[in-house]
Amino acid sequence: MSVPLLDLRAQHATIREEVVKAVLDVVDSQLFILGEPVQRLEADVAALSNASHAIGCANGTDAILLAMRALDIGRGDEVVTTPFTFFATAGTIHNVGATPVFVDIEPRTFNISPDAAAAAVTSRTKAIIPVDLFGQMAEVEAIRARVGSLPIIEDAAQSIGARRKVNGAWTMAGELATIGTFSFFPSKNLGGYGDGGMLVTQDAAIAERLMRLRVHGGAKQYFHDEVGYNSRLDSLQAAVLSAKLPHLAAWSAKRRENAAFYDQALAGVAGLVTPYVDPDNESIFNQYTIRTERRDELQAHLKSKGIGSSIYYPLPLHLQPCFAYLGYREGQCPESERAAREVLSLPIFPELTQSQLDEVATAVRGFYGR
Ligand SMILES: *Cc1c(COP(=O)(O)O)cnc(C)c1O
Repeated sequence: MSVPLLDLRAQHATIREEVVKAVLDVVDSQLFILGEPVQRLEADVAALSNASHAIGCANGTDAILLAMRALDIGRGDEVVTTPFTFFATAGTIHNVGATPVFVDIEPRTFNISPDAAAAAVTSRTKAIIPVDLFGQMAEVEAIRARVGSLPIIEDAAQSIGARRKVNGAWTMAGELATIGTFSFFPSKNLGGYGDGGMLVTQDAAIAERLMRLRVHGGAKQYFHDEVGYNSRLDSLQAAVLSAKLPHLAAWSAKRRENAAFYDQALAGVAGLVTPYVDPDNESIFNQYTIRTERRDELQAHLKSKGIGSSIYYPLPLHLQPCFAYLGYREGQCPESERAAREVLSLPIFPELTQSQLDEVATAVRGFYGR
């Protein structure tokens, strides 16, 4: 592959010494569970996210699950979310015993429609889960304005460090929600060397509950107030992530530069739509996602040229076989369904060289005879 969708080894090569030292420090300490490396990362992610509290956990999926448990969401409850997201957003709703309620997206940003979310609220609704898709924040403040005090869990797995202007002031991903959740899966902008996740909140009582839930529900060891989980952030991962965190802003800026290059190089190509970033948003471009009616042909063309691409996501969640029991039919979330047919994510990682960027742009333009 001459231009892979993502090249983690290219990034590792630029930080190898710092990361290996951080890992060896943990190895030498033999203190692998929670402790200083996790606390340090929690403090730094809380600061980045303008949050009072940050709580590490095992992965981004557990972060969403723990958030719902901390809000007492379970059997008989409804949670409103988007069907155009990674599976975990809704899988966790099912797994706490609640019912996912899917509403459609805004076609330009791919994020949940605040109006549709508000319209789906019933007396059984216990939370809304907007997703900050592809690196761009959802309209969290608009959702808040429409749903009053209903809890908002912001799935910011793809958007750590993204920001959005609200009333003229920058707010960070996770900041305005009742609980914000992050993933450190290796392909995210801040990726560990394995799994990891984190939650942020402004609410001290929720933070305390989350700290208990991640260690089997007991504030005191061997005494359990409720049944929780084993969902800790690994100290080795925390050390890796702390070594990487100082680079995050520059990496995300480089992704924006790459996006600006593609925007210009692909502008005016008939039949192709480049990503839309809401003027109030600063995206971290976890993905650079174009849309075209000839998506599958374009992907095959890129593959023949040695260029990686991927479809996030080919089947919206309301139409997944595992959710057939919910009774959704095709046509109920038309924008999500259309996006699933048209989207294609191109290589956008920060270490792309100019010649790789040129190669991708030339191949895409070539497909359209430009
Ligand atoms: C990656 C991701 C998750 C899950 O994170 P894991 O760390 O892989 O469990 C959840 N939601 C979204 C939108 C994601 O992209």
